[in-house]
Amino acid sequence: MDFEFAAALYYNYFNYKEELLTTKRVKHSDICKLINGLDNNIFQISKQGESYCGREINLVNAGTGEKKIFVWSQMHGDESTATMAIFDIFNFLGRRDGFDSVRKKIFDNASLYFLPMVNPDGAEQFRRGNYLDIDINRDAIRMQTPEGKILRETFDIIDADFGFNLHDQNIRYTSGNSHKNAAISFLAPLFDSKGTINTTRGNAIKLISGLTSILNSYIPGHIARYEEDYEPRSFGDTFQGLGTSTILIESGGWKGDREKQFIRKLNFILLLSSINSIIDNDYEKESFDLYNNLPFNKESLYDLILRNLSIKREDKISIIDIGINNKEEIDETTGNTNMISRIEEIGDLSNFYGHEEYNLDGYYIEPNKGRLKIGDKPEIMIKKDEQLKYTFENGDLTHSSLQ
Ligand SMILES: [Zn+2]
Repeated sequence: MDFEFAAALYYNYFNYKEELLTTKRVKHSDICKLINGLDNNIFQISKQGESYCGREINLVNAGTGEKKIFVWSQMHGDESTATMAIFDIFNFLGRRDGFDSVRKKIFDNASLYFLPMVNPDGAEQFRRGNYLDIDINRDAIRMQTPEGKILRETFDIIDADFGFNLHDQNIRYTSGNSHKNAAISFLAPLFDSKGTINTTRGNAIKLISGLTSILNSYIPGHIARYEEDYEPRSFGDTFQGLGTSTILIESGGWKGDREKQFIRKLNFILLLSSINSIIDNDYEKESFDLYNNLPFNKESLYDLILRNLSIKREDKISIIDIGINNKEEIDETTGNTNMISRIEEIGDLSNFYGHEEYNLDGYYIEPNKGRLKIGDKPEIMIKKDEQLKYTFENGDLTHSSLQ
């Protein structure tokens, strides 16, 4: 892998970041505007079809070389991180600067095909499914969604050497049994239930090993492997079985990065490093080891954990931890998105981690409304020696003093 190239991308990323995309709520109208503005000396745009609600799904092609690389994103409407990175890559490819020799190498040796935002109707609502709320990534066999059909037809036309299947995963996954977010998770999807490794899948595994070695310089410990289950209804598994070395990249969480802008930058580096490695065939030098040694995703992270609180009910005292998460919820009347805190778990959370944690040993809790309940907003008072130490209202922890 070319570590110098990856470092140059890391430190020069700001030059290519598409400034019109600033939050994860990327809409179809945003990307249409950007696609229409692409330089047609470099990019060929072809309409592949329309979504259920008639939104155009466009394929963007650059380069005329032998190595064919197919990149598709946002098959799940609320998973937009890679879509943002794809437009950063378009900016990179369209620029003239110190990277010109790399660009020439890419355009001469590769044919890049991008299908950004496979699910524009889902993106409009910022939800997973398509207009009928069908999960497009479970439609690779039955083919009942126009979006799934477009993805499959595009795949068949390109007949790519490598495919990049780009998603977002639960931001609360950690990398194995650690407290570190799984910022990026990989999978070389299985094409049978035995997990057979043939040349196609082997090449995907080798490239992931190479990408892991690159990420180890920037986010050590924050890399994981997605669960290895064969899912014949999904497109990644299907495409791997059809002979395109397919790599699943899942953008996860990063502390303080609600809009996924840091992970977007990682996607930019990963995809351009992959293209470079595929052209040079240097992924072939990688072993399976880094891939095989990646810890699996594990869901064990909360935004906040209050630990070792006492709660007294009917003369019984129990010691509890409380796991609290901030969640985006849509206000049905205004349509606005609000960040709301919810109690997610009550009890022993000793094998879980919190982005923020308080050890409240010796403190006791009084729920404002009499009882504590999962799913409620945390409205609680935390006391010690009859004195109020913390109040928790509508998700804000205000402390009188910490002792
Ligand atoms: Zn997904």
